[in-house]
Amino acid sequence: MKFTVLSLFPEILQGFFDSSIMAKAVERGTIDYELINIRDFAFDKHRTCDDAPYGGGAGMVMKAEPVAMALESVKSAGKKTVYMSPSGKLFNQKAAAELADEQEIVILCGRYEGVDQRIIDTYIDTEISIGDYVLSSGETAALVVIDAVYRLVDGVINSESLEEESFSGGLLEYPHYTRPEVFQGLKVPDILLSGHHARIQEWRHEKSLEKTRKNRPDLLSRETTSGYETEDQDGLD
Ligand code: SAH
Repeated sequence: MKFTVLSLFPEILQGFFDSSIMAKAVERGTIDYELINIRDFAFDKHRTCDDAPYGGGAGMVMKAEPVAMALESVKSAGKKTVYMSPSGKLFNQKAAAELADEQEIVILCGRYEGVDQRIIDTYIDTEISIGDYVLSSGETAALVVIDAVYRLVDGVINSESLEEESFSGGLLEYPHYTRPEVFQGLKVPDILLSGHHARIQEWRHEKSLEKTRKNRPDLLSRETTSGYETEDQDGLD
């Protein structure tokens, strides 16, 4: 799978592709990426990429021409084109799984007050927000999406670790412990040392339920004393 990211500050993203699990996935050829500097497509003397908004108001707007040319340079049929935006559809695990099925995703990062609306109308398939808050730039938001998506691509990480983690079964994940057995007087729960696989599973499920009830009761649509039901997440479509 390939990520093509269009940005005015592509160096913000470079470190992520150069590090840890992502670097290994790139080296193996499981993940490919291309970082495009939108400023390379601004051809006036000052390589201007922003201008004042029509209608007045604070801030600057990313100009349509350089962004359009940058998009034209990479766009072809079959590439999903995404714009990071606080007014987009809310990103979640289901949306990440949908995007992980794509061959290539083109991600446009905004700056200032955002990009000229005509870019969105002409080139963008989906606008994605990573949460109900405003960031100063789309690069950090794009990194969140890339991170959540690439780890779901076959061959990037062990599929067993994906099965049990938060959101996959509609619940938050159970707590983890590793050596030492006693840390600052706190002992690892006995059950985890028992070697009794079925009882460990049961304990983990109870802890997941407890944590979800405490931190994210909204994920539980209906609770009974004997069981629970989880809310299905909405995807991007
Ligand atoms: N004026 C805009 C905010 C622009 S923030 C508004 O009020 O809606 C500048 C850029 O940061 C945006 O173009 C977008 O690319 C990015 N951004 C900010 N918050 C974001 C969020 N919650 N999710 C995704 N991208 C975001």
